[in-house]
Amino acid sequence: MKEKTLVLIKPGAVQRELIGEIMTRFERKGIKIVGLKMMEMTAHLVKLHYAHLINEPFFNDLQSFMMSTPVVAIALEGAGIVKRVRDLTGVTNPREARPGTIRGDFSISVRNNVVHASANLEEALIELQRFFSEDELFNYNRMNVIDYSDE
Ligand code: UDP
Ligand code: MG
Repeated sequence: MKEKTLVLIKPGAVQRELIGEIMTRFERKGIKIVGLKMMEMTAHLVKLHYAHLINEPFFNDLQSFMMSTPVVAIALEGAGIVKRVRDLTGVTNPREARPGTIRGDFSISVRNNVVHASANLEEALIELQRFFSEDELFNYNRMNVIDYSDE
């Protein structure tokens, strides 16, 4: 199975009408989209997704934020995709994220840092299963001018 990762376009970015801009970052780079949907996060889903933060003082605010507006879940596929997407996303604090990254270009707020991206291979596997059923992930060949032979 080819390496895949999960991106979530967070509520703040949906409100700011950045869905297209963010999708374009991945498409323009030549990254293959293999799953895509808008969905509402439940309290349960937020608790699973951010289990490592459940004891943080900001967890309740984070949970309300993630449930405030639907999110867009994107599954991306390719060689080394987990790290490549994390690099395109930038570090957690957008004030420190490098210009050219999604967080670096579109945000100054830690909570509202535009996107989630799986941090490592193990997290990506778990998160993809959490957000997508098998029949929502697609297998197809791309037939355009870019050379994808390294995938
Ligand atoms: N977060 C927050 N306040 C903080 C730290 C994190 O609201 O002080 C939120 C922020 O939206 C971040 C998410 O919690 O993206 C998950 O944190 P994590 O450390 O996993 O960072 P990420 O993997 O998203 O870079
Ligand atoms: Mg994380």
